[in-house]
Amino acid sequence: MAEEVIRVHDLTKVYGKAAAAVRALDGFSFSARAGEMLTLFGPSGSGKTTLLNILAGLEKPSGGEVSVGGQSLAGLKDADAFRAKNIGFIFRSPNLLPVLSVRENIEAQMRAVVAGGSARRRRSESLLGMLGLTEVANLRPDELSNIQCMRVAVGRAMANDPALLLADEPTGDLDSRGGKELLELLTGLNERAGVTILIATHERSVAQAAPRVLHIADGRLVGDRRPDDALQDALRLLAESEVGGKVPAQGAAARGLLSAEEQAVLRRLLEKVTTDAGGVAGGADYSFT
Ligand code: ADP
Ligand code: MG
Repeated sequence: MAEEVIRVHDLTKVYGKAAAAVRALDGFSFSARAGEMLTLFGPSGSGKTTLLNILAGLEKPSGGEVSVGGQSLAGLKDADAFRAKNIGFIFRSPNLLPVLSVRENIEAQMRAVVAGGSARRRRSESLLGMLGLTEVANLRPDELSNIQCMRVAVGRAMANDPALLLADEPTGDLDSRGGKELLELLTGLNERAGVTILIATHERSVAQAAPRVLHIADGRLVGDRRPDDALQDALRLLAESEVGGKVPAQGAAARGLLSAEEQAVLRRLLEKVTTDAGGVAGGADYSFT
């Protein structure tokens, strides 16, 4: 796999025709390096699922270029085989096969890619261990909790050791504790297995779990921020000014203790942290319909 795992250039997707046409993606460009973990953050209908589906080769773009692992998806002869080998997909609901055990659900995913039952067994043993599922390996999905089912879905997505893991609203059906657990699991996989992860979400707290946030609105990239940047900028400004020493004095600005310049620094600080973070630093979640 190339150093650049995702490369998307001027991507457009139009659904429908003429007056009924919807531009789900409108000139979207970005790239992600191997080993990055990033979130795609935007409201319902902003184009997140469309982008993930195109990256996975599940949908064809109307225009623009997409490469995964250096391979242009437009030039693929067998998109299914490429996806099976290189891309893991986690959906909002686990979609496990109810008649198969946890182990079988994971191994079934390997059929087309990993030859030999014993090789599949070795790989599933290691995944089950990594995901904390060894003790439930022989249980069926209906005997598991929601978060355990999501762990199995992660195991299935990781079954063929993909370079890229895509997750579409993966915490959507979990409570906040389950959501946190899942994000920790994904972060751990990113750090230990080095897999590149892109998570689509409308939830701010989920978006903030990654070091890089792509902010999408109306099919366009409107922000590409590491959430830390705004804070770092603000702290740098604070350090360079001498305003820090005066801030604790209550009502300092009002009593004229701060110069106009110092007040401007304070205003910039607040602006940085609240707006320039691509909306990530403050405010509520997007509503989800
Ligand atoms: P998100 O995942 O951010 O909620 P989607 O990618 O699902 O956004 O949708 C983006 C836009 O494209 C929305 O306006 C949606 O209604 C529209 N859309 C998505 N899929 C289809 C489809 N198969 N046919 C027509 N319109 C679609
Ligand atoms: Mg969606």
